[in-house]
Amino acid sequence: MGIYTSTRSDIETSISKAIVKGIADDGGLFVPKNINDLKLDYKSLVGKSYKEIAFAVFRLFFDDFSDEEIRYCIDGAYTDSFKTSEVVEISKVANFYELELYHGPTCAFKDVALQFLPFSMQVSKKKNDIDSKVMILTATSGDTGKAALEGFKNIDGIDITVFYPKGKVSDIQEKQMVSTDGKNTHVASINGNFDDCQRIVKDIFADKEVEKELADKGIILSSANSINISRLLPQVVYYVYSYIKLLERNEIEEDELINFTVPTGNFGNILAGLYAKRIGVPINKLICASNSNNVLTEFLKTGVYDRNREFYKTISPSMDILVSSNVERLIYEIAAHKQMGVSKKMEDLKTSGRYELCEHCTASMKEDFYADYTTDEQCLEEIKNTLINDHKLIDTHTACASSVYRRYVEETGDSTKTVVVSTASPYKFSKDVLRALVDEIPANEYECIKKLNEISKEEIPSSIAELQNKEVKHNTNLNIDEALNYVLALAEGK
Ligand SMILES: *Cc1c(COP(=O)(O)O)cnc(C)c1O
Repeated sequence: MGIYTSTRSDIETSISKAIVKGIADDGGLFVPKNINDLKLDYKSLVGKSYKEIAFAVFRLFFDDFSDEEIRYCIDGAYTDSFKTSEVVEISKVANFYELELYHGPTCAFKDVALQFLPFSMQVSKKKNDIDSKVMILTATSGDTGKAALEGFKNIDGIDITVFYPKGKVSDIQEKQMVSTDGKNTHVASINGNFDDCQRIVKDIFADKEVEKELADKGIILSSANSINISRLLPQVVYYVYSYIKLLERNEIEEDELINFTVPTGNFGNILAGLYAKRIGVPINKLICASNSNNVLTEFLKTGVYDRNREFYKTISPSMDILVSSNVERLIYEIAAHKQMGVSKKMEDLKTSGRYELCEHCTASMKEDFYADYTTDEQCLEEIKNTLINDHKLIDTHTACASSVYRRYVEETGDSTKTVVVSTASPYKFSKDVLRALVDEIPANEYECIKKLNEISKEEIPSSIAELQNKEVKHNTNLNIDEALNYVLALAEGK
């Protein structure tokens, strides 16, 4: 049985094997072999809860999971650690809707998938009789690390280690990570930058001797980053959910097309939108919003992917990416499942940093997507205008998206109802959000949070409000060349 394949060669596998492996042996990413065969009867979901809608969506995708196993994962993931009973919320802002995905334990949208992934990994291990302990290694520039720690903490049979660059994440992000409890969590700051952290993890994954040494101890390595198929699929659910809720509220009619605007980095979130469209949600355009690192804007407009360009550090750091890994899955869809073609393009990307789609593929991609980008100045302007005109405080990533949406409407005149996907609580990026509103910015991030609260009257999420007084549980600091021994020592302790 198997409805999954690799983007790079014609193999067949099941969801549980794809989840445990993370990445295919040929270096490709796991994808549904033929997503057009999966059809969701969305009309039957009217009146259902988030969890029930999640079940209907996962039933399509989790081929070798039983109904009970799917329910176990959903119930494990979506608990009261989400501050709203329905996991996500949809609010109306001026002439669009905002899908708030930031009510999870770490206040960013990655919680929706990272709360689910650990349970699905646990079930997948069991289904494939894998007794080994799994060691998750993750490098983070800030957001992913904490979301992964919260997702994996206290999950039996799995350990998680996070590396972050010392002094290069925000005070809030650092405190979120080092205050994590749980008996299986490890956090170390690295004297280096994010690329160093990522290289540490990649080198350990590629080291055959380390692999053997760990295997002898009954340990296998895995990763929590967004190439795992089980990080992608939970994101399909909230596209379906949004449509159902707009229908229930009589904001749209049955089969009416809607748009989504998505602040995009690794292309995972917006790709889940494409999957939702493929399984039958009436979606017109997926509007891809980038920041000044606008490699995706060019790609979706022209079919040319070119990473040979300056890298900008922006105020929407989770979108500061030049190689968006999930684009590989997009090409598999667009290029009619021709794996040879995908392989060749990924090879070109590696060797020359560039590849090009054929005219036909580019045209077909433009039927689904529109793309544009937002500068830091436009982003700050958007935050300010949204608070003044719409009385809503938004974060820097969401501001990129709503700014792009406004320009999309100006350019195209498209009046299709649109959902702007909101990916983080504004309090996670307090300093820059505050910069949009006042001239004097306190140096201390907690002061920024307080001030932002005074100005906006928007409630501070409890996990952020409590942070200042939380005990530090992890204080390991390592030089780059000490990281491998640290991991081996952790393995020894198991
Ligand atoms: C990760 C992240 C994004 C980008 O999402 P992708 O799935 O990588 O495209 C956008 N906003 C925030 C706040 C994020 O944490």
